[in-house]
Amino acid sequence: MTQLALYNTLTKAKAPFEPANPKRVTMYVCGNTVYNFAHIGNARPAVVFDVLFRLLRRTYGNNHVIYARNVTDVDDKINAAAKEQGVDIAEITDRFTAAFNEDIGALGVIPPNVEPRATEHISEIVSMIKRLIASGHAYAAEGHVLYSVPSFDDYGRLSNRNRDDMIAGARVEVAPYKNDPADFVLWKPSTNDLPGWDSPWGPNGGRGRPGWHIECSAMIEKHLGETIDIHGGGNDLIFPHHENEIAQSRCSHNGANLAGVWMHNGMLELGDEKMSKSLGNVWLVRDLLQTHTGEAVRLALLSAHYRQPLAWSEDVVVQAKRTLDRLYGTLVALGHIDTEASTPPDAFLSAVADDLNTPKALAELSALAKAANTVATDADKARLKGEILASGALLGLLQGDPAAWLQGDAQDGDAEIEELIAARNDARANKDFAESDRIRDDLAAKGITLEDGTDGTKWRRAN
Ligand SMILES: [Zn+2]
Repeated sequence: MTQLALYNTLTKAKAPFEPANPKRVTMYVCGNTVYNFAHIGNARPAVVFDVLFRLLRRTYGNNHVIYARNVTDVDDKINAAAKEQGVDIAEITDRFTAAFNEDIGALGVIPPNVEPRATEHISEIVSMIKRLIASGHAYAAEGHVLYSVPSFDDYGRLSNRNRDDMIAGARVEVAPYKNDPADFVLWKPSTNDLPGWDSPWGPNGGRGRPGWHIECSAMIEKHLGETIDIHGGGNDLIFPHHENEIAQSRCSHNGANLAGVWMHNGMLELGDEKMSKSLGNVWLVRDLLQTHTGEAVRLALLSAHYRQPLAWSEDVVVQAKRTLDRLYGTLVALGHIDTEASTPPDAFLSAVADDLNTPKALAELSALAKAANTVATDADKARLKGEILASGALLGLLQGDPAAWLQGDAQDGDAEIEELIAARNDARANKDFAESDRIRDDLAAKGITLEDGTDGTKWRRAN
């Protein structure tokens, strides 16, 4: 078994991964707040932790890994979107939860075992808040419940922040009901026009709603337990979100660690094309899928190491598509040779197991394809084809029909291309070679290459 090593944000070091119980490996990743379509930055953690999920399942067995990715379906941004569009809050959250799953599904992301929604865990949230109050780590004030940051000595360890940083990081003017400027909200009051649930705190039957951070702590406790093996998310969540999750969970569980390993992916850099909704040029996954295949977008997301920033551009996706063209081209060239059930070669597995070094793994995959293009015997071809497919599967790539891929399966304009090819074949049948050449040149100018063979004319896009 290849030893998995993961970088832990908490210890600032890479270490061999040892789950507490190899028969029940637990992973939690913070999901989306569902009030809009997912942008490409939301897709990166979904794809990165999907690769880790695949690797864990391969290492410990499909039935021994439990992966939970939550849905934040109560939030002020959702309330604002519902108000703006004049619809019920559930209409917004249902619509964008479905849209998110559809979009990342197109990127080959396997659904997690559990996708808990915050609004379905209010009693668990209230129960955790009660325990935090009882143990002196939280207090009720003016309909709010606040977590008392000075009550937890380890606060700031994950993000390496001292007290001054924390207060500056709070970024809001200090509410008068806070005992300490760093204290954060666990529960807040709701007016009747906002989503709300009964609670023991405040007026109006305690009608209120949870703060964002407590949702994750309560859902982790319910679905995975007090201490989990891996907690993931974008590095923009380290402070305050993950710092607050740790504080809430540890103080609810007699100091027990929340997670053995904390993993954080870097952000996408969008260059001039800022990821700003107000500018109207957000990189929505949905929009990218109009012009690119989900597989090319996935490979583009895996082209950089997950902890590094990734400079995102149209070109990154175009390059990814070229890589896939080459790899699928090799599979086509290998033909219908039978492959035995195969495993990825050691060099590939070591790269993925080394803190998900996907750039190195992709280089190994390309090396396999290169080798496959030069081997002569059927036995070697079968072995390499099996290794390419098994390696691809671990990254969630190359599982499509190679021939269909090279034809640019079901892209816009396919029907028009087929029509032009038919017209060209008619011209050739009538020995009108000037016309058939004209159509071929016309297609070439659009990046379509034709190959005439005994079983008709095949075509492919140049990039
Ligand atoms: Zn979270």
